[in-house]
Amino acid sequence: MIPASFEYLRPNTIPEAIAMLQQHGDAAKILSGGQSLIPMMKLRLARPVILIDINRISGLSHIKEEGGYLKIGGLTREAELETSPLVRSKYPILADTSHVIADPQVRNLATVGGNLAHGDPANDHPATMLALGAQVVANGPKGERVIPIENFFLSLFTTALKADEILTEIRVPIPPTQSGGAYLKLERKVGDFATAAVAVQMTVDEQGACRKIGIALTNVGATPVKSKKAEDFLRGKKLDDAALAQAAQLAADEAEPSADLRGPVEYKKGLVKELAKRALLLARERAGK
Ligand SMILES: Cc1cc2nc3c(=O)[nH]c(=O)nc-3n(C[C@H](O)[C@H](O)[C@H](O)COP(=O)(O)OP(=O)(O)OC[C@H]3O[C@@H](n4cnc5c(N)ncnc54)[C@H](O)[C@@H]3O)c2cc1C
Repeated sequence: MIPASFEYLRPNTIPEAIAMLQQHGDAAKILSGGQSLIPMMKLRLARPVILIDINRISGLSHIKEEGGYLKIGGLTREAELETSPLVRSKYPILADTSHVIADPQVRNLATVGGNLAHGDPANDHPATMLALGAQVVANGPKGERVIPIENFFLSLFTTALKADEILTEIRVPIPPTQSGGAYLKLERKVGDFATAAVAVQMTVDEQGACRKIGIALTNVGATPVKSKKAEDFLRGKKLDDAALAQAAQLAADEAEPSADLRGPVEYKKGLVKELAKRALLLARERAGK
């Protein structure tokens, strides 16, 4: 339970942090909330030689609407997202998500940027950001680049971030009126990672038909799963209960869970179907239709 020894660096600016990453290459790791990295170091699953603590860099922690996006700073804590009046009123899917991550102590430190950068398919924000069609902003030696979330998760614990890049911001398109979202998760006990979870974000037109839809699944694949067949099925359709039930079945078909201590494959697929149905119903209710 004691990590291998490491050197600790604490930059004050983003350029300083990037220079450190460039200098130390694969030997270095960014430290944000430390709620995934430190346990992995204690278990010796990660052995960075250098830790670059970005917590003193200003301008990385914010939640604000600007230029058509909800902008979430990479260092924004889960607890800040969970309690933000703006998020609670306009982005309930994000409040749902933060609320079911770990426990209050972890949420006080864990960051939204770290949750995505870690690339763990059991983490909760990846599916939610996929459903929301978010963008990830990465800063590196060549400046800033914007990565669509659909291109961000490459494989287990691997993202599109380069070794010398820092995730500085997440951008969520501001939803039009008559939009609603929900994130529903089943965990074995409070604070656990998901057995499975489903994120849904939708926009409904005046007739109650689906204008825009995002559906994504947590912990049922090597990366978060975007449920494209269910989305294609619902787009343009009237969102009645039968259509939602059919979409939930399609989402379950797209899940690729592994059997483990949390249950066999059939159970997890059944769970996705039920959670998807409930998340779709709740999202529809929140969209006002
Ligand atoms: C008991 C416990 C229960 C948990 N349960 C859940 C859960 O139910 N759901 C869930 O989603 N998570 C859960 N977590 C994980 C938690 O949410 C983590 O904090 C999160 O996954 C990582 O965020 P962090 O800020 O702590 O990142 P860190 O641990 O500091 O870093 C994680 C990884 O991301 C990299 N990184 C971090 N920030 C950046 C950045 N800005 N730019 C580039 N790379 C970066 C680091 O180098 C490291 O490789 C749990 C953690 C604990 C300890």
